[in-house]
Amino acid sequence: MSADRTFVIVGAGHAGGRAAQAMRQYGFDGRILLIGKEPHIPYERPPLSKELIVTDAGLEAGLEKVRLHEAAWYAENRIELIAGTAATALDAAAKTVGLADGRTIGFDRLMLTTGARVRTLPVPGAGLDGVFYLRTIEDSETIRAHISAGTRVAVIGGGFIGLEIAGSAVKRGAEVAVLEAADRPMGRSVAPEVSEWFARMHRDRGVDLRLGISIAAIEGNGSATGIRLGDGSVVPAEVVVIGIGILPNVEIAQAAGLAVDNGIVVDDRGRTSHPDIYAAGDVANQPNAFTGRRLRLESYQNAQDQAAAVARNLCGADEAYEDSLWVWSDQHDVNLQMTGAPEAWDSLVWRGDPDEGRFTVFYLAGGRIVAVNTVNNGREMRPARMMMESGKAFEVDALADTSVKLLKLARG
Ligand SMILES: Cc1cc2nc3c(=O)[nH]c(=O)nc-3n(C[C@H](O)[C@H](O)[C@H](O)COP(=O)(O)OP(=O)(O)OC[C@H]3O[C@@H](n4cnc5c(N)ncnc54)[C@H](O)[C@@H]3O)c2cc1C
Repeated sequence: MSADRTFVIVGAGHAGGRAAQAMRQYGFDGRILLIGKEPHIPYERPPLSKELIVTDAGLEAGLEKVRLHEAAWYAENRIELIAGTAATALDAAAKTVGLADGRTIGFDRLMLTTGARVRTLPVPGAGLDGVFYLRTIEDSETIRAHISAGTRVAVIGGGFIGLEIAGSAVKRGAEVAVLEAADRPMGRSVAPEVSEWFARMHRDRGVDLRLGISIAAIEGNGSATGIRLGDGSVVPAEVVVIGIGILPNVEIAQAAGLAVDNGIVVDDRGRTSHPDIYAAGDVANQPNAFTGRRLRLESYQNAQDQAAAVARNLCGADEAYEDSLWVWSDQHDVNLQMTGAPEAWDSLVWRGDPDEGRFTVFYLAGGRIVAVNTVNNGREMRPARMMMESGKAFEVDALADTSVKLLKLARG
């Protein structure tokens, strides 16, 4: 099928790698070029803040653990991987991509999976040695190499990445502080009551979690020695990891005149404002049927499944991508899974005993489930998700009753 056509994918991360795979699985027989700025084959990022910080794998062995496919897979599937080379220009009218090495590549269809980069913190001292951000496998390896027993680590940002790093650093024997500007951790993602449970859990495991703080400066002379807070106090730290969110890599799309608004604007098929250019993954801002509004999702599942669906659309399918939102985070020995959109709810139903560290929380609006959290209770996620997606109303007593299997409720 279409043997004389060329599809170019810019961004060889999770979404880009899965897109190339999905194109071949769909039967596209033409040329596929996968262009990536990082000098690696595509890999998955979730372990970078978790097991790769904890274990002393090293860069090569770490990459081996997280790669999407082994290196030979690309040649076997005739995926022309151009690694270590950024795409620097896009001419949408001429349908060409310019690369940093001077090459210009023409395409019939283009998929942008350029992902995101870390948001930086503009405070004095942010450039000192010992101050790190985490996005790439090199970042993970550098952070790991700087943390050992007794290292004082300050994590700025109490979102998923910051809290995961905190848990991993504790496992390495570090003394860890987490400094969060809001009055609770994971404030954009879970209910205040769930944040409160996690705050306690981190403190119980030795993390000095400070909320509602502001950062005045990172102190040090060459290397970081601590963080000066807005109230003048200093949190000592040799290692500072900043995890305050990410920014979508929209620049080449924007310069090419594509619609951009908190990411590259796409329709439910993943098509941008240009009919032959598509986008997926962390960079794409797509209508979401479940929430009824546009979302730019920053999750593994989205990078995996949205990219595959959009890649099939490049090949000729006409498939709307629908995502009811699923994301997980591992902090210390705690697995948190979340589905749905916890934006507005009128009650929470707790299922299981929070003091025992294994439970499920349903977020209800008008009797309907709009979001679910499972804590060390991942086996309830699938039926809970089915129940949420059914749109049905459930009895509060039945939801809270652990003697009633969720699968039974889901199928009932
Ligand atoms: C440390 C960490 C832990 C995470 N943990 C979880 C988790 O537990 N659960 C979960 O659901 N999600 C997690 N995520 C999020 C998940 O990894 C991302 O949503 C996913 O990686 C997004 O994939 P992507 O391909 O869209 O973007 P990316 O993975 O960012 O890949 C984009 C690629 O494009 C490249 N690129 C950018 N611009 C250009 C250009 N102009 N030319 C060429 N190449 C370019 C980039 O260098 C990068 O390699 C985590 C992320 C991180 C960083």
